[in-house]
Amino acid sequence: MTEPDFSKISVVLVNTSHPGNIGASARAMRNMGLTRLVLVQPKEFPSGVAVGRAASAVELLDRALVVDSLSEAIADCGLVIGASARSRSIPWPLLTPEQCARKAMAEAGRHRVALVFGREDTGLSNEELQLCHYHVRIPSDPDYSSLNLAAAVMVICYELHKAALAGQIDDSGIIEREWDQEMANGEAVEHFYQHLERVLVKIDFHDPENPRQLMQRLRRLFGRIRIDVMEMNILRGMLTHIEKNLKQRD
Ligand code: SAH
Repeated sequence: MTEPDFSKISVVLVNTSHPGNIGASARAMRNMGLTRLVLVQPKEFPSGVAVGRAASAVELLDRALVVDSLSEAIADCGLVIGASARSRSIPWPLLTPEQCARKAMAEAGRHRVALVFGREDTGLSNEELQLCHYHVRIPSDPDYSSLNLAAAVMVICYELHKAALAGQIDDSGIIEREWDQEMANGEAVEHFYQHLERVLVKIDFHDPENPRQLMQRLRRLFGRIRIDVMEMNILRGMLTHIEKNLKQRD
C-alpha cells in the first residue's frame, strides 16, 4: 500500500505557551504520518522540553517553520480549518473531525491545507477564527470540552490518517475534485477583505466606528463560497472601478 501524501497539509500551532505541548504535537503528527509543523510566535522555542516530548519526531521540530502571525502561516493555503472547543461570536461553518479529514485529504491534491490550533489558555481569537474557512470541533463532554492541545492535534491527525487509509474523498461538492481555477489563497483573500472594507467605508456603507459585525459577516459569506483566483480578480476589478469612479466625481 502506498503511504498517504500529507505533504501539503500543515499543522499550525498559534502562540503555544508550553514547549512540551509542541513536542507532544510533533510526536502525534509523526505517529500519524504528518510532517509539516508551523509555529506562530511560540513562547519558548527551540526547547529541550519540546525535544524530550517529541521522542523520535525531533526532525519535525528541526524543520518547523516559525512565523510571526497566523496570516503569514496561511498566506499560501487554499483551505484553512481552525480547531476550536467552543463557538464564539457569530456561528461559522462547523465540521466534525471526520468531515475535516475528508475535506483536507480531498483538497490536499490541489492546494496547501492548514489545520490551526490555539493557545492552551484562550484558544484562537475571534480574528484568528475568522481567517478560517471552517471550524472543527472534537465532540467532548460539554462540562469540560477543552482537550489538551497535543491531544486535540492527535485526534485530528488520527482522523486524517484514517481518511487517507480509507481512500475517502469529500463528496460535498464538485469544488474539491475538479475546478477550472485554483482557489484564492489566504493572502489574496486577506487583500480582498482589506480592499472591500476600504471601499465600503468610502461609499459610506460601513462605519468603522460602528462596525456591527459587518466585516465578520462578509468574511463568513465569502469564506462559504470559496472564491477562486479568477473570481477574486473580478471582485478586485469591481472594487478598483468603484474607487476610480468615486475619484472622478470628487
Ligand atoms: N481554553 C481554551 C482551549 C484551549 S485548548 C478555549 O476555551 O478556547 C488548545 C487548543 O486545542 C484549542 O485552541 C483548539 O485548537 C484545540 N482544542 C481543544 N479542545 C478542542 C475540541 N474539543 N475541539 C476542537 N479543538 C480543540
